[in-house]
Amino acid sequence: MKNDKVLITGGAGFIGSNYVEYALKNSDDEIFVLDKLTYAGNLKNLETVSHKITFIRGDICDADFIQDLFSKYAFQKVVHFAAESHVDNSISGPSEFIQTNIVGTFNLLQSAYTTWMHGPNDLKSEFKYARFLHISTDEVYGTLGETGLFTEETSYAPNSPYSASKASSDFIVRSYFHTYGLPVVTTNCSNNYGPNQHKEKLIPTIIRKAISGQPIPIYGDGKNVRDWLYVMDHCSGIYLALEKGKLGETYNIGGRNERENLYIANVICELLNEMLPKNSSYKEQITFVKDRPGHDFRYAINASKIEKELGWKAKENFETGIQKTIAWYLENKERL
Ligand code: NAD
Repeated sequence: MKNDKVLITGGAGFIGSNYVEYALKNSDDEIFVLDKLTYAGNLKNLETVSHKITFIRGDICDADFIQDLFSKYAFQKVVHFAAESHVDNSISGPSEFIQTNIVGTFNLLQSAYTTWMHGPNDLKSEFKYARFLHISTDEVYGTLGETGLFTEETSYAPNSPYSASKASSDFIVRSYFHTYGLPVVTTNCSNNYGPNQHKEKLIPTIIRKAISGQPIPIYGDGKNVRDWLYVMDHCSGIYLALEKGKLGETYNIGGRNERENLYIANVICELLNEMLPKNSSYKEQITFVKDRPGHDFRYAINASKIEKELGWKAKENFETGIQKTIAWYLENKERL
């Protein structure tokens, strides 16, 4: 559909801002970004596209405000990124995670429902092609051992307040499809990396600590495995799921790039050695620190469903994507 009004929540954050860029390049839709601008949101992430979008500052936890927004703009699509996203913060202060990730998602679903539908299973004609895409995480599946992959059929077993709050939101989204027929699609993705990521996350932290000559902290023995997904590959998957995904379905999006955390740190240090005029080894700064409580050992996604059904494929492998990412951070050092 052309020229739909699309609400992108959390669009001033890491993945959301990359998605705004992707959507502007690949569609004629009218983009509205809703973001509370918490510590994780940054209008700098939208600087280059600010003249092409409508930015609205607001809180998804404010139900009346969200309903007014839907009544005013009559969005046809919602792409929902807004969340508290940092696992460590969820351990020290889970309350915000429960509010934003669970109650905030509920408010958006409820406003979409009252705007788009007369009653159960009956979309109003002007919202015939309405869609609500919910962005979630592979962390809802819990942890893997040395082998195996998460599929869309894997049972939920979240271990942190963050993943538990995301799992709860996934279930509420699911219930709006089965109970009310709301046109929803959910995607569960692996660890993203790329431009605009908040400096608190693993890859920006490694780059920052390395170039400032500080210890590079690695949890435990560095053997934890994550399945790394370049953010623009994630955005192309989200766009396909929004446009072509089957209603009520879930799609796992992963880069098929399983890497140990220690490997990540080593590769970044090697690339910094090549890219910066410094003759010392950044690797010597790698320092092992006390492990995160409840730290999941391994996440890895089987992305066959979105690959086969929607024709999606990740373009970057970790070694190409990380070069682009480091180059971006070196050009934007104030973001570290
Ligand atoms: P982020 O923390 O960089 O951005 C979140 C954005 O949401 C910020 O701009 C913030 O200001 C906004 N926000 C937070 N609370 C809000 C509220 N109450 N009302 C309105 N806006 C609010 O997060 P991200 O890394 O871009 O993640 C986006 C989504 O993708 C999240 O739902 C996250 O759970 C999911 N996800 C992320 C990853 C990853 O590797 N980054 C992996 C899997 C899933």
